Amino acid sequence: MTIETETPRLLSGTVTAREIRGEVAAGCAALKERHGIVPGLSVVLVGEDPASQIYVRNKAKAAGKAGMNSQIIRMPAESTEAEVLETVARLNADTQVHGILVQLPLPSGVNTQHVTDAIDPAKDVDGFHPVNVGRLLSGAPGFVACTPRGIIELLKRHEIPLSGKHAVVIGRSNIVGKPMAVLLLREHCTVTVCHSRTVDLPRVAAQGDLLIAAVGRLAMVTAEFIKPGAVVVDVGIHRVTDEATCRNLFGDDPSRLNQLREKGSTLAGDVHPLEARTRAGWLTPVPGGVGPLTIALLLRNTLEAAQRSASSDPA
Ligand code: NAD
Repeated sequence: MTIETETPRLLSGTVTAREIRGEVAAGCAALKERHGIVPGLSVVLVGEDPASQIYVRNKAKAAGKAGMNSQIIRMPAESTEAEVLETVARLNADTQVHGILVQLPLPSGVNTQHVTDAIDPAKDVDGFHPVNVGRLLSGAPGFVACTPRGIIELLKRHEIPLSGKHAVVIGRSNIVGKPMAVLLLREHCTVTVCHSRTVDLPRVAAQGDLLIAAVGRLAMVTAEFIKPGAVVVDVGIHRVTDEATCRNLFGDDPSRLNQLREKGSTLAGDVHPLEARTRAGWLTPVPGGVGPLTIALLLRNTLEAAQRSASSDPA
């Protein structure tokens, strides 16, 4: 039997991200006025991956708009690990730089863990350094990965009750699934983490009052994964380029079909949007859901890094 719910309410990341960016801009202005400090974000891009180029440009632009100094350090794809580490060391030592982000993925000759480990934890605004991961686990203050931190903000600002709820996270990556699970535990959820070896995934997922899909597989989460009325957060980002898939996911939605014709693609997530609509109580749209929050929380982390540097400055 399929229990159908009303059309789910939308959890708009665009609106929440705008609010957070406004708060960050106000925080930057206050820091400048009181301490003469302008938060500085340095983004390191190694190679020419087209998606990374766009992400990096968007991050630097958003930082500038919030009143931060931002710089993109572009390094050729042939850069050696030693050269990347040298750049990180220079940024660690630069007092004008409060946040350092090395865009992933790195070229195959550069070891991601070595580079992540080299970033000063006090400037690790991505929250990937083992010290910050440890702080997250132990409940100490530190930087938390931007996407899961953004999801918690999204849920709280929409007054979604979390305490005592069963949260199911699909995906166990270091940047989304694992920190997400820890943050939900902090909010007193009962947390189940699923992954590629989970047996009978739809049945397990459908136990979640809250379902976070961070799988990296287009529309894998169908109606049978969703408990009726559940809050569904779709982290996945996929480019859909063919009409049959577009119609399968969005039906005859004219805006999607027009986008496909005019731009050559439309975005979709890990959750099947039409199917989710028959079950979910709340749903994040793609685009306009989790995506905008990641950048907003990167700005928040960078502001916090600059604020901490101000409070530890003996002058
Ligand atoms: P990842 O590939 O590192 O991890 C995917 C996880 O899903 C793995 O832990 C794996 O065990 C699990 N998985 C894979 N196939 C599965 C299956 N068939 N059944 C159950 N579990 C399975 O991906 P990630 O970096 O965590 O990203 C996940 C998705 O989120 C991607 O689409 C990515 O593009 C997107 N993403 C979006 C944002 C954003 O800002 N919106 C940020 C980060 C990642």
